Amino acid sequence: MTRKLIYRFGLGETEGRAEWKELLGGKGANLAEMASMGIPVPPGFTITSEACVDYLRSSAIPEGLFENVRENLAWLERSTLKGFGGTENPLLVSVRSGAQSSMPGMMDTVLNLGLNDRTVLALARHSRSERFAFDAYRRLLAMFADVVLDVDRGLFDAPMHEARRRIARQRDLSIPGELEALARLVPDTVLGVPELRAVVEDYKAIIRSHAHQAFPDSPHEQLEATIVAVFKSWNNPRARLYRAMHNIPEGWGTAVNVQAMVFGNLGETSATGVAFTRDPSTGERRFFGEWLPNAQGEDVVAGVRTPLALAKAPDDNGSSLEELMRESYQELFAIQAKLEQRFRDMQDIEFTIEAGKLYLLQTRNGKRSARASVRIAVDMVGEGLIHPDEAILRVDPERLQELLFPAIDPRSTTVPLAKGIAASPGAVTGRAVFNADDAQAYAAKNEAVILVRAETSPEDLHGMKAAKGILTARGGATSHAAVVARGMGRPCVSGCAALNVDHVAARMTVHGADGSVVATIVQGDTLTIDGSSGKVYRGAVETVAAELGSEMEILLKWTDRVRRLRVRANADTPAQAEKALSFGAEGIGLCRTEHMFFSEERIAAVREMILARDVAARKRALDKLLPFQTRDFAQLFRVMKERPVNIRLLDPPLHEFLPKEDAQIAQLAVAMAVSVSDVKRRIAELYEYNPMLGHRGVRLGITFPEIPEMQVQAILDAACVVKKEGYDVHPEIMIPLAFSAAELLAMRQIVDAVAHETFQRHGIEVKFKFGTMIELPRAALLADQLAQQAEFFSFGTNDLTQTTLGVSRDDAGSFLPVYVERQMLPEDPFVTLDIEGVGELMRIAVEKSRVAHGEISLGVCGEHGGDPKSIEFFEQLGLGYVSCSPFRVPIARVAAAQAALRRTKRYWH
Ligand code: PEP
Ligand code: MG
Repeated sequence: MTRKLIYRFGLGETEGRAEWKELLGGKGANLAEMASMGIPVPPGFTITSEACVDYLRSSAIPEGLFENVRENLAWLERSTLKGFGGTENPLLVSVRSGAQSSMPGMMDTVLNLGLNDRTVLALARHSRSERFAFDAYRRLLAMFADVVLDVDRGLFDAPMHEARRRIARQRDLSIPGELEALARLVPDTVLGVPELRAVVEDYKAIIRSHAHQAFPDSPHEQLEATIVAVFKSWNNPRARLYRAMHNIPEGWGTAVNVQAMVFGNLGETSATGVAFTRDPSTGERRFFGEWLPNAQGEDVVAGVRTPLALAKAPDDNGSSLEELMRESYQELFAIQAKLEQRFRDMQDIEFTIEAGKLYLLQTRNGKRSARASVRIAVDMVGEGLIHPDEAILRVDPERLQELLFPAIDPRSTTVPLAKGIAASPGAVTGRAVFNADDAQAYAAKNEAVILVRAETSPEDLHGMKAAKGILTARGGATSHAAVVARGMGRPCVSGCAALNVDHVAARMTVHGADGSVVATIVQGDTLTIDGSSGKVYRGAVETVAAELGSEMEILLKWTDRVRRLRVRANADTPAQAEKALSFGAEGIGLCRTEHMFFSEERIAAVREMILARDVAARKRALDKLLPFQTRDFAQLFRVMKERPVNIRLLDPPLHEFLPKEDAQIAQLAVAMAVSVSDVKRRIAELYEYNPMLGHRGVRLGITFPEIPEMQVQAILDAACVVKKEGYDVHPEIMIPLAFSAAELLAMRQIVDAVAHETFQRHGIEVKFKFGTMIELPRAALLADQLAQQAEFFSFGTNDLTQTTLGVSRDDAGSFLPVYVERQMLPEDPFVTLDIEGVGELMRIAVEKSRVAHGEISLGVCGEHGGDPKSIEFFEQLGLGYVSCSPFRVPIARVAAAQAALRRTKRYWH
């Protein structure tokens, strides 16, 4: 039996259904469904996506396709009493693509097919409007030329502008030089029959000279060429890019819908509009939309005329559809309710009223704001339309950050100055300052500031704290600025390569793509940064406030019932820990102890410790740090109560801590009672070519064991003190950057010795865990050996990415975006785990560690712990928990629940 290539819809002969999206595309399947439900849709037929795939594979029209098209056209003609190419009452059709999932932007559409020099006159007679007929004809010529004949769409503007100028001259209007101003002065609706006839002739001439062929006169030829063009549009570059970005398989192909045209611009009893079954921005359950009388669909979208409201409102001056076309409104209202029940989701509907008769042209699941997506999902569970698991799957976790931070007002039209890496979400406005002290000084005067640096270091911390937002020219998504800003919940744009920051002159220049200076910003100028998109704006841009909201709280509770992965937070201070708890964190997965040293009083002692020439000097410095550390840990334990608290021993790339400016060096010399030149010499001695691969992590503990001794003592002292206060504490001591079991053994001996001494001194014992990060390829490959010395592993995927790819996390900003742009990497591997490479190492480590140590606890604490796509992979790996910055905890909870539902296929269609 030959395959069925065409499915009809409408006129009581509907063959398709909503579930056949694979075959009929989303648009075709929903049109068929609407027709079966008795909803008025203009009749037509859908050519299957299989026909498209066949064509693309063989470059030949599938056998019998065009014969089939003609048979179905004959059916349409018979049923509508119109003729395709007829000179009485001509049938016009639209051709629209429609793939399985919507691909806005690639959609090629041609309207009004069937017009030619003869049928246009028939249409004019039949519609009693020559203007309408010629307007439809010129639209067809331009669309056909663009979609089918590949003629540059821009060429068709000139005749329209010429027609506008002619009208302006006739009316003695002064002609603006700006084309947009001209179009506003003389809108399309003002063009009369002579102008439109002239435009039609000009368009035909453009086609002849640029496509080297005449516009085909034969309606069948027009239709067949358009069908082929739509097939081919599956492979146009923008469609390919869209598919790559949204993981849409290449092999799907697009269906093609051929449908009888209906017109909303046939006079005052005609209209067109779009409607939503719920408010797409708030999610509120109210029928909502816009319409225009005597207009075509594109007029509503183009914004040439201001659309009117559908439903009656107190201030609409009687212009609502409800008031002006009451019957059509009531019919539409009843239909939208039916559609929502049938599709079980908020619908975005297109409709046209032709001479008083309502038609539905399309229904699809509507796009919505993050807040609306949560509210609609939760409300629909309450209404019995969907199951809570389905509600969880309906929200995009990545977009939830819009609820957690202020965002740029979606209505804003301000153009950004530059774009960097979206390092820490949220939009914020403030004055640009170029060093940390100034940030503090401005903040002390209650001025909101954006701290702008080429890159940040621990010396900038007080400025970062004082600032409302952080902007850097260098460094990627795991650079110092990014990690610290995320932890603090400060919006941050990092790695904005277009900026040239001059700290000394307190100014920056912004460079365009060609390197020219497009703007200069000096200290005190107002800037807005959007850490959710990476965009940087001059001046203040309107933002909208953040709030989790009660529906989100409900949804999060549901996620907790289905997810397997635990969600912890990376938190370094009691305040961050509290924030994390409020977002539902179940423990601390990483406390970076070096971050506890950043405040001014402590950093001096840390520097002394780093620069100490001998053990005695180092111990003196460490003795200064011990009380701070003990107090901090105790407070952290009190906040986290019975939940696990994972504390990592010191892991500073040392260079991050060393003073760079003379004044600070002099200060340090006084504190250490040595000369300035001594300090400088010592700094020079400690200079490393590759500090990220240098004297950091466990290596520091191996060479200077007094450092881990102090830290372990602080942890266990604090644990004993807090336990005595009645808390059930669960500390975990974590070793950074190990690559061997031998390193762990050495650290373990220190920990055991300190524990023994501390517990004896306190007269109590605290159960704690000892483990390591896996952040070097060697550690992953030898995980079975390391597992002998560890009760837990936590994957440090930031360093593991850096060391696996050999890409410096602080320098990646200048070249990695090019890799992503050219699709040499699917995504920034510091944001979404490189599953192929880094993921493979993790898989090996998980397998080996489980064989060696079945009980070992496994987690991840790199930035990927808060990334939904990476979380999906961690779920598949069977890790025990993910840990991420406090503000990503709700995102991780949703992502973990979705991953569990998908893995166990526990979801509803
Ligand atoms: C890591 O490397 O993934 C990690 C969590 O440690 P840090 O970012 O502090 O190097
Ligand atoms: Mg690390």
